[in-house]
Amino acid sequence: MKIRKLALGLIVGALALTAACGREGAPPAAGGDGGPAGADAQLTYEVATDVTLTGSPTFDRMKQAGKVVIGIREDQPGLGFKDATTGARSGFDVEIARMVAAGLGYGDDKIEYKAVPSAAREDTISRGDIDFMVGTYTINDNRKQRVSFAGPYFVAGQGLLVRKDETEITGKDTLKGKKVCSVTGSTPIQRVREQGLTEPENIVEFQTYSQCVDQLLSRQVDAVTTDDAILKGYAAQAPDDLKVVGEAFSVEPYGIGLAKDDAVLRGKINDLLQAAMDDGTWQKIYDATLGKSGSAAEPPAIERY
Ligand code: GLU
Repeated sequence: MKIRKLALGLIVGALALTAACGREGAPPAAGGDGGPAGADAQLTYEVATDVTLTGSPTFDRMKQAGKVVIGIREDQPGLGFKDATTGARSGFDVEIARMVAAGLGYGDDKIEYKAVPSAAREDTISRGDIDFMVGTYTINDNRKQRVSFAGPYFVAGQGLLVRKDETEITGKDTLKGKKVCSVTGSTPIQRVREQGLTEPENIVEFQTYSQCVDQLLSRQVDAVTTDDAILKGYAAQAPDDLKVVGEAFSVEPYGIGLAKDDAVLRGKINDLLQAAMDDGTWQKIYDATLGKSGSAAEPPAIERY
């Protein structure tokens, strides 16, 4: 009896979730909604055995610990998302992280995830609190002074998320006098400042994008700006309330951030990314996550530096 009640509860819950995320005429939720663990949302990767990486301090640390610690996001549907109820993780970044971990010899049971916000990434990596970061992390010269990047494994561009009934904000040059929310330590908030897209007092800053989205829904701000891939995930979860507008106005190549001097690990991760791009795994990951929204994408060229 108890079990039947529980099962019914789960079904009703699942239906509610499906209804909330897949309203008629709306694009399917990007990257799923973090379905139950073990559901088909998760791809499987062959876990490598006997991996040796001579001269990688990070890999030595992983071996010592018997696990890999990966910096990730938990509130970005389609990219890095953790279902609050089931604890299941889903999204493009999660799959890239799992694929790389498997290539290094670490299966799911040997991965420890740590949620790391935008502003903390360089510090967290250089302190050695994580082995590497897979979290919408734009490769740029400024960051390269403190960390190294494997990749890019995806290229996004800065966009705008507004309420469905918004008519005045249509692109980056229509933001003057509007309250614009973004995240501390991110490239998009820096761009809003540097390009003076809105007045300094109209820039609202949080640690995570989901806080910005809450502010948008409660009409405290007029727009959220960051990478279009992130914004599309939020729009897909609330298609009656939110929409992405305008053209992308930057290039954000996503890299896997790791310790600055660990060229051996960087080379190995680049090899794993390249192999996944060559053998169709990258495409499978894309199709199962970001590609669910219907847009096509091709893997970018790995930058070996
Ligand atoms: N890709 C941008 C960045 O690395 C924005 C996304 C984020 O904050 O993670 O700053």
